[in-house]
Amino acid sequence: MSNIQYLKGVGPAKAKLFERLEIHTVADLLHTYPRTYQDRRENAPNNGLNPPTLVVFKGRVLRAQTVPARSVLIFKAFLADEKNNQIECTWFKRRTFRNFRFDPFAALKKDFKINAEIWVIGHRENRNNFLDNKITVEEYYPVSSPESVWHAGRITPIYSLTEGLTNKQFRQFMHEALSAPDFQNEPDILPPSLIEKRHFISGRQALHAVHFPSGLSELENARARLAYEEFLLLATAWGIKRTQTKAIAKGYGYEIKKHLLTPFRQNLGFDFTNSQKKVINEIFADLQSQLPMNRLLQGDVGSGKTIVALSAILLAAENGYQSALMAPTEILAEQHYLTFQKILKKLKVPVAVLTSSTKAPERKKTLAGLADGSISIVVGTHALIQDDVKFKNLKLAVIDEQHRFGVKQRGKLKEKTARLDLLTMTATPIPRTLALAFYGDLAVSTLTELPPGRRPIQTRIADEFEANHFVAEEVKQGRQAYIVYPLIEESESISAKAVTEEFEKLQKVFPNFNLAMLHGQMSRSEKEQVMADFAAHKTDILVATPVIEVGIDVPNATVMVIQNAERFGLASLHQLRGRVGRGKFDSQCVLVAPHQGSISRERLRIICDTTDGFKIGERDMQLRGPGEILGTRQSGELEFKAGDLFKDRNILQWATEDRDELLREDPLLKKPEHAAFKARLLELYQNNWHLIDLS
Ligand code: ADP
Ligand code: MG
Repeated sequence: MSNIQYLKGVGPAKAKLFERLEIHTVADLLHTYPRTYQDRRENAPNNGLNPPTLVVFKGRVLRAQTVPARSVLIFKAFLADEKNNQIECTWFKRRTFRNFRFDPFAALKKDFKINAEIWVIGHRENRNNFLDNKITVEEYYPVSSPESVWHAGRITPIYSLTEGLTNKQFRQFMHEALSAPDFQNEPDILPPSLIEKRHFISGRQALHAVHFPSGLSELENARARLAYEEFLLLATAWGIKRTQTKAIAKGYGYEIKKHLLTPFRQNLGFDFTNSQKKVINEIFADLQSQLPMNRLLQGDVGSGKTIVALSAILLAAENGYQSALMAPTEILAEQHYLTFQKILKKLKVPVAVLTSSTKAPERKKTLAGLADGSISIVVGTHALIQDDVKFKNLKLAVIDEQHRFGVKQRGKLKEKTARLDLLTMTATPIPRTLALAFYGDLAVSTLTELPPGRRPIQTRIADEFEANHFVAEEVKQGRQAYIVYPLIEESESISAKAVTEEFEKLQKVFPNFNLAMLHGQMSRSEKEQVMADFAAHKTDILVATPVIEVGIDVPNATVMVIQNAERFGLASLHQLRGRVGRGKFDSQCVLVAPHQGSISRERLRIICDTTDGFKIGERDMQLRGPGEILGTRQSGELEFKAGDLFKDRNILQWATEDRDELLREDPLLKKPEHAAFKARLLELYQNNWHLIDLS
């Protein structure tokens, strides 16, 4: 489908903003599913979709006026609904020179005429008082305006935003995209036989309904169909990759020489766990063989996957081969780089880092070193798979936190990926049998134990005062702490502002400690500095957005405070908690959750009761009710956009079976009824790490 720029109302400037969200085409936009939904139907039941402070109100204007005030300009409107419930809406504008010449409330005055009927969506000003009728308005729509149907009076989609794009615009563009002829003429990617067999709605209906559902059951049908589609595409990609891997020999095997591995083990400062030894042996056997490795390493948070990966990387280095390790976030890539550097300096193995914020001169140097082979290990984000990155002798690719990579992070390794040894690592606990079926007979290794000496992490619910008290106690003992705030309305820039405010407050709470702040809007060098300072214990408390969620490893940190814990999914809570309990000290995770609904209360209870990622995953699946469709996906927990590995086990099973049948019948997808599916498959996976070749 066409470039997003040509969608009605978008244009080059907005297209740039969409690019930040990895939305390049109209198809990308349509496949950007809502982050969550709000129930903006009249008299909507309390089904857990809406945040507790949200007010959705349809009423008529009783009166509206500007209010005299000294330093700001204020406009107030009073509305009443049919039952004579009343609300008071307030807007503020700063006084500026412009304001003297243009009335900043002109549009409001036009819309809020006496007796006009209007939808108002906003938050109670006193967020703790459920009777409060004073509202800070976020969106409003005159009932008479035809576009209001996309925004109010319905289950309304809420998207992940970026600064400069609003939900309102998003919905309008989505509506445009859904009515564009391009979309209307697009063939269904699923062959009719499968749609019929599994009783799915059509692809077009599903996309329409995932954005603008007529009700919860239609939404669930849409989600199921899109989940299936997603699973089937990935399962097929893996299926094809498996056949191809088996058909191509590398033509060489690695030899264990030990001149790097032995000193590495001796300098490590601890022994491998039995589980690590077993897994390393499995990986080494793959690398020694003549066939390419294609192995998934599973292991719970903190089980020590990094040094397993490093062992494989060093075996490659012993054989004169280059390795690349790709991480989903810059912060994690930086951290791996620091860890590797520390260990590898003694071994004199050169390592470099490459992310999208690597400065040009440094980048140039690294690219040259990779091309001439003088750098043998590179750590980075998906900046590693840009076109201009060329290797002399890349043989091993490791993907950390594989479940965090969306299919959108496209790019192509210049090398012959089919012959590359591939190790993917994940903490997502897919049961082994399921993983085996889904990924084909992909080799799976599992770390089943944590390193010795780990003390169980105490998890508890507390109020903010108690939480701060725990932090202070630990810091006085020489330990360090994290305080994490959720992403707000899913825009990193808005979250950054919120965290900045909290940070200023916390500095007053802890005047004697060193505090630092970390969020996604900081520059690379700032982030790097903050992480390095925290790792070196120059700072005591790190106040952050969930950017620290995956992979961060500072063993001296013993307290993880999670603010608004009710807004996180179980997987995120488990990952965040995994940032502590990494050293020899007792650690605790403190959940501050002021707005608990019944589901969030249950979720918090589970996280308090168990530290086993597999069990948490199981419970997560049972817990998700209709109100949580797509809902708790706080920060891209899984690699699937519609699918949920736990909730959708049966759909996953179907996709696996149907994939097997599909490839048995038509291994290269040459039949005309598979053309649309094949086109989508290539669009997603041909230029991806899971490179497949269907020529
Ligand atoms: P994850 O599996 O979550 O990626 P990491 O690789 O970050 O875990 O390891 C967590 C911590 O455990 C690191 O500080 C690492 O140095 C340490 N570690 C790993 N293996 C062992 C071991 N065998 N004994 C002691 N500590 C270990
Ligand atoms: Mg890790």
